[in-house]
Amino acid sequence: MEYDYNLYVLGAGSGGVRASRISASYGAKVAVAESTYLGGTCVNVGCVPKKLFVYGSHFHEDFSDANGYGWDVSVNGFDWPTLRDNKTAEIERLNGIYRNLLENAGVDLHEGHAKLIDAHTVEVNGERHTAENILIATGGWPTVPEFPGAEHVITSNEAFYLDTFPERVVVVGGGYIAVEFAGIFAGLGAQTIQLYRGPLFLRGFDNSVREFVKDELPKKGIDLRFNSDVQRIEREGDTRIVHLTDGSTISADLVLYATGRHPNTENLGLESAGVNLGARGEIQINEDYQTNVPNIYAIGDVTDRIQLTPVAIEEGMCIANNLFTDRPKIHLNYDTIPTAVFCQPNIGTVGPTEAEAVALHGGDLDIYESTFKPMKHTLSGRDERTYMKMIVRRSDDVVLAVHMVGPDAGEIIQGIAVAIVAGATKKLFDTTVGIHPTAAEELVTLREKSREA
Ligand code: FAD
Ligand code: NDP
Repeated sequence: MEYDYNLYVLGAGSGGVRASRISASYGAKVAVAESTYLGGTCVNVGCVPKKLFVYGSHFHEDFSDANGYGWDVSVNGFDWPTLRDNKTAEIERLNGIYRNLLENAGVDLHEGHAKLIDAHTVEVNGERHTAENILIATGGWPTVPEFPGAEHVITSNEAFYLDTFPERVVVVGGGYIAVEFAGIFAGLGAQTIQLYRGPLFLRGFDNSVREFVKDELPKKGIDLRFNSDVQRIEREGDTRIVHLTDGSTISADLVLYATGRHPNTENLGLESAGVNLGARGEIQINEDYQTNVPNIYAIGDVTDRIQLTPVAIEEGMCIANNLFTDRPKIHLNYDTIPTAVFCQPNIGTVGPTEAEAVALHGGDLDIYESTFKPMKHTLSGRDERTYMKMIVRRSDDVVLAVHMVGPDAGEIIQGIAVAIVAGATKKLFDTTVGIHPTAAEELVTLREKSREA
């Protein structure tokens, strides 16, 4: 072979690991470079440790809910180092599993920062390797805006490894990470204030979901403040004094900025290889995940499209299939990607928001909604509610979307997503027998529409 490898992958995260090992299983000679941690963001400072923290933070509620069921529970406290270190041990176990996956697939792992020298050459730790195809899967990194005192804040990366657990936390942002971490900190016992710069957070989600979550989070003790912007932060000893643009101040032990992530393209040698970037610093690709340099591809967060692990993984599957098999090319269908936000209660969603559906099919929509108290809270006494919305296209009865806020919404919506991808009609939902007593059965018993749109 003219080159050392058929495929050289930069980044052993969600997308890179999948593309590497599946390509190798199709017979390609593959190497992957990883600078920091095997498994990437999701395994090390993303989905996995986050979900463990969400579980950890929910016990607080479970203990008090148990009371209505006759349990006399006395809580003697929460030990942050135990949760943090058990989480880290689990992550290290997963790092080992990723190493084995790559080794067993016959993929060469080069541990170090990789950069492109030209369109067919990658350099890692001073060594050069040539490849017929190159895949950039270097992910993203948290973005903190520039303002006076920005050095006094942390990002989600550091939140996973705090030395001590803070008593007073300010979370800035109104996206996935901000609402998830506000729930984690509040659940673990910190006084938590969440600041969002606009009138309503969770931009991009269905408006009813956004409103509903706005009403639920304060019930968990989160002090949610909209139209709130930070002007500067000062440090006095261990205390951060957060000055807001309205002139007020907040004292906190920790300020977490969850204000988005940017593509990880620093020192990648993209100019040497001639790879074009878009306006947001993202690697630009066509529908085949190909950059402007024909043998260089990019997937996952570095392309700044939908930043979700299953998306990066499926894109990795497409690369392996399209480059190393004779089977027809495959592409991901980006229209029906389900997602969950692990705020408490969770959001689960698949399909367009009501506003998006109206823009496409206005006048031809039936909206079904349900709001109820989960059965568990009849005895716990907790004032938590669940919300569900189904959007149906009247002319052909197809269910376009389901949006939900409630316990285990992610688990419920995963199954619903299969039905929606399959093009299920409302009639099909209605003729499906419910599972009683569950919250999910509500989705097959939505009889009366709440409105037409
Ligand atoms: P990554 O997983 O980030 O992998 C990129 C890898 O490339 C990294 O390991 C990095 O070290 C390496 N790298 C970078 N530059 C170089 C270089 N020059 N040389 C060698 N290696 C390099 N998604 C979900 O679906 N569900 C969730 O619950 C969820 N929770 C999240 C929670 C948090 C706090 C965060 C931050 C993200 C979360 N995500 C979640 C998003 C998810 O983690 C990402 O979408 C996913 O990891 C993207 O995969 P990727 O392969 O594109 O990049
Ligand atoms: P998001 O893009 O989801 O949210 C960023 C938030 O920060 C928005 O509310 C945005 O406000 C706000 N913001 C941006 N810039 C500023 C600024 N200068 N000052 C104040 N606020 C600002 O990013 P996240 O960091 O929360 O997460 C990154 C991505 O990671 C997510 O989009 C998601 O794809 C993925 N992720 C997925 C998870 C899951 O699947 N459960 C969990 C965590 C992350 P505005 O809306 O006004 O622009």
